[in-house]
Amino acid sequence: MTTIKTYQCQTCFQNNQVQIELSFCSESIDLIEDCYVCCNPNTISYTIEDQKIKYFEVVKTY
Ligand SMILES: [Zn+2]
Repeated sequence: MTTIKTYQCQTCFQNNQVQIELSFCSESIDLIEDCYVCCNPNTISYTIEDQKIKYFEVVKTY
């Protein structure tokens, strides 16, 4: 099961969407996504618990 989460690019502050896999249990995931607008990378960290997003953070990647 996956869900689509909207996040804000930390460089240009435009909205982007990322697909999140909900089948991981109590696991921290880090992934790097390039912004669709400005192509700068954002590091996305999230935690899944009971197939819900418990924690979600976007950090600017240099
Ligand atoms: Zn951007």
